[in-house]
Amino acid sequence: MRFEPTEIARLYGRSRVGVVVHQDLKAVYVNDAYAKMLGRRDVKDFMSEPDMRQYIPPSFHHEAAKLSEGFQEGHGFHGWKKVYNIRTDGTPVWMEISDETVEWGQGNAVLTTAQMIDNGTTAMQVDHMLGRSFIGVMVHRNMTALYVNDAFAHLMGSENASKFMENPNVLRFIPEQNRPRALKHVAGILSGALRGERHRVRDILDDGSSVWRDLTDERILWHDGKPAILTTAHDVRDEVEMNEELVRAKASLEEAVTEVIRLVPSAVAMLDSDLKVIHHNYEFSRLFGVPKSEDDSPSFDISALRECYAKMKQNGHGHATLDEMQTPSGRLADIRMNMMEGGGVMVSATDITDHKRKEQMLDTLASTDPLTRALNRRGFEIAVSRLREIRHLKDKSWVFGLIILDLDYFKDINDTYGHAIGDRVLEKVAETLRQALRDDDLVVRLGGEEFAVLLPSATAAVTKRIGERLANMIRAIEVPVEKDGDAVAKVTASFGATVGGEGRQRFIELAEAMALADEAMYAAKEAGRDQLIFRTFEREQDS
Ligand code: GH3
Ligand code: MG
Ligand code: MG
Repeated sequence: MRFEPTEIARLYGRSRVGVVVHQDLKAVYVNDAYAKMLGRRDVKDFMSEPDMRQYIPPSFHHEAAKLSEGFQEGHGFHGWKKVYNIRTDGTPVWMEISDETVEWGQGNAVLTTAQMIDNGTTAMQVDHMLGRSFIGVMVHRNMTALYVNDAFAHLMGSENASKFMENPNVLRFIPEQNRPRALKHVAGILSGALRGERHRVRDILDDGSSVWRDLTDERILWHDGKPAILTTAHDVRDEVEMNEELVRAKASLEEAVTEVIRLVPSAVAMLDSDLKVIHHNYEFSRLFGVPKSEDDSPSFDISALRECYAKMKQNGHGHATLDEMQTPSGRLADIRMNMMEGGGVMVSATDITDHKRKEQMLDTLASTDPLTRALNRRGFEIAVSRLREIRHLKDKSWVFGLIILDLDYFKDINDTYGHAIGDRVLEKVAETLRQALRDDDLVVRLGGEEFAVLLPSATAAVTKRIGERLANMIRAIEVPVEKDGDAVAKVTASFGATVGGEGRQRFIELAEAMALADEAMYAAKEAGRDQLIFRTFEREQDS
């Protein structure tokens, strides 16, 4: 059919049917009815912006362009079909249109006649409501998109809805191995047998990247009268990425913790609520391990830990410590326990055996005299209060014998044989005292060549007897004074002795007893040396 613009205008100009002639979706003629149908003031207003795309929903741009091209290439016609367009004010208009090819100038154009109808359809509602939504929306059937909004197009890597619809096949986005399941799913939705729950899918975009979406599928009736699926899609990429990041972070944290546990010098272990060892490091197996059984699995003796666990349970603080525990391997350890979330128990133990040994060594150094290895005054006081405490704990009375002795004319030994020989004599005296006494008795170097001996529980008679014995033994000491000669240094001592503690009339403190024994010792010196004088506060058994 050949039309001239004037003819068209004569035929349709005042028609109530809308008429538009267009080429490549650009209007070349429009009548007043059509212009107004699309929200234009008049023909002039319509023709000032002749691009028809502004009225066509983006999802249909591609289809419309293809149709238009077809009509322009050959003669064609199709009967009435329902479409909706968007007016200039953004409201939808539902029309029944018919397209046919007309000859126009040198080529062809499309003549579209349109009648407005007013029944809203799903398609129109979908676009009107969801066209500009941030939520991705797609209507599809047989894995072919019938409609998408811009948000959906963006999600799937397209610039806009129109671009997306150039290739409406959506099966390609689904990873190969998921396709059978996806096809079954959409068939179920379409037939109404399935209700679409929100589910998470991973799609492969055309550029090969992947996108995570949460989908909800719903069966609707499309405007062609057949069922279709309305899919809404939420972009959950950030969520998925965050989850993956968290999983990665958690894994590397666990790795780091395991490494730290392995490297710390302390024994560290994780126990479950039944106190079964779940994780442990080398140091833990050194302290708590027992020889392996045939099956080579490490086993532990944690009986030492049970006490700490019981303490933690009892105090309710979720942590407890126990100092100087004996471990199965015979070591001493400080134990620390923490309750973990979920009922597990974190144990750390520090081997303090060497530390304790050093501490004892320092303690000995600080309380003994290095030359004679007898106690010094500090060590003496500590030892006495310890003895006294033990007696008290055993509910026994605290009494003691005390002897102070000072070597006679010791200066002469130094002067005659030299200081080194003097030292040897002092060593020998201390050794003699130790050998003569019991383990509980204390031997003290009070200073210079003056010693004290404390005899726990000794009576006055016992104290005197022991004093006499010590005097005899010191008289017997012989220290060689030359390397190969027979000459020896000999020595005697003056003794002052007393008893203290819970006396008959009152309690006698150590300091009082010391002063009295000292007095007695000086009395022995006065009386000619090399003898023992015994004194008490009761003044009944002097001499
Ligand atoms: P007395 O019978 O009156 O006690 O006479 P003494 O010579 O023993 O008395 P004095 O207190 O005058 O002399 C004690 C001497 O002991 C003086 C000092 O040189 C000596 N002396 C003190 N400590 C040591 C020591 O550690 N080694 C040696 N070799 N001599 C010591
Ligand atoms: Mg002396
Ligand atoms: Mg002296």
